[in-house]
Amino acid sequence: MTNLPHIPFVDLASQQKRIRTDVDKAMTRVLDHGRYVMGPEVAELETELSKFCGAKHSIGCSSGTDALAMVLMAKNLRAGQIVFCPAFTFVATAEVVAWLGAKVCFVDVEPDTFNMDPNALRAAIQTCKANGEDMAGIITVDLFGLPADYIALLAISEEHDLWLLSDAAQSFGARYHNAPIGTNGIATATSFFPAKPLGAYGDGGAMFTDDDELADDLRSILFHGKGSSQYDNVRIGMTGRLDTMQAAVLLEKLKIFDQEITERQQVANRYTSGLNDLLTCPHVPEGRQSVWAQYTTRLPQGLDRDALQAKLKDKGIPTAVYYAKPLHRQEAYSTNLIAGLHSDGQLPVTDALSLDVLSLPMHPYLSTDTQDYIVDHIRAAIGDLS
Ligand SMILES: *Cc1c(COP(=O)(O)O)cnc(C)c1O
Repeated sequence: MTNLPHIPFVDLASQQKRIRTDVDKAMTRVLDHGRYVMGPEVAELETELSKFCGAKHSIGCSSGTDALAMVLMAKNLRAGQIVFCPAFTFVATAEVVAWLGAKVCFVDVEPDTFNMDPNALRAAIQTCKANGEDMAGIITVDLFGLPADYIALLAISEEHDLWLLSDAAQSFGARYHNAPIGTNGIATATSFFPAKPLGAYGDGGAMFTDDDELADDLRSILFHGKGSSQYDNVRIGMTGRLDTMQAAVLLEKLKIFDQEITERQQVANRYTSGLNDLLTCPHVPEGRQSVWAQYTTRLPQGLDRDALQAKLKDKGIPTAVYYAKPLHRQEAYSTNLIAGLHSDGQLPVTDALSLDVLSLPMHPYLSTDTQDYIVDHIRAAIGDLS
């Protein structure tokens, strides 16, 4: 065996090296003041997040999943009601609907953006209407960091009097028609899971909204439904707060986030120019800017994905498949018992994507040399397999 290069899929170690001194100082400050829960860094981070994304209210919370769930709780989503969401996403998008006993209606996605297809949404709404279902809202996902088609999706939500919640767990830092993600629909939920574009050193998330009343409700829900204090409980809530320590880390990471977004874009551009003739590289529609949570290609028809991944692994190149098993094929979501209603059981684009997508190493610290190595070996391996 020759010495293989070490190529991380997401390189948190290089990022840590870049900011380590400042993170150490920030964590020491928290240890010194000792306010581990609801410390001053949380409010400071919320101010900075609002400056960054333009939302009137930014509310730090325990995770992206909890961010989604708390908005549904605030909207009083009831058992049996329908929420529309894509099946080509991470499980959390649908999971929170099932938590509350509501039903998921899975909607197909667009073959080029991988995001909810407005036409499929319209069809799903018609089916649910015909079945006399009680429809509550829509959860859109900005998959792999690319904003969904908000203009079209918001128009449908308004036409049918449904709320729209934006699952931006992968897209904080992306832009839609010149505005940062954070202000589409009634609220936006994001995640600070370490591997997301803006990641903490543990779990964390945030909720964004321009609605004062919704913001008040969310702040209450994340602290056990507190009224005037946590011992005055005016609604059902949970432990949904962001740790002070994570807020301190995120404040340091936010300082380099704009730069990292530029670097991610450069990495994406280099992949596209090196591979566009062989693979279907990501399509970014006019007016949108991805934050490149993943760089996800579609392989040529008939190419053996497992064999390609194995060949690349032999060269030290990690790849990943998001998502090999879409949610409507998952055991927990496959029946009507909890959540599994989907218009006619058919999601052809989702199924096709699950068979041919492949995500490549993506992070701001990928050098041109390493990327050339990756591109050259992908080209060689596809040549061998075709
Ligand atoms: C990561 C992710 C979540 C959940 O975020 P956590 O912070 O891990 O709870 C929700 N939705 C999508 C699309 C995600 O990628």
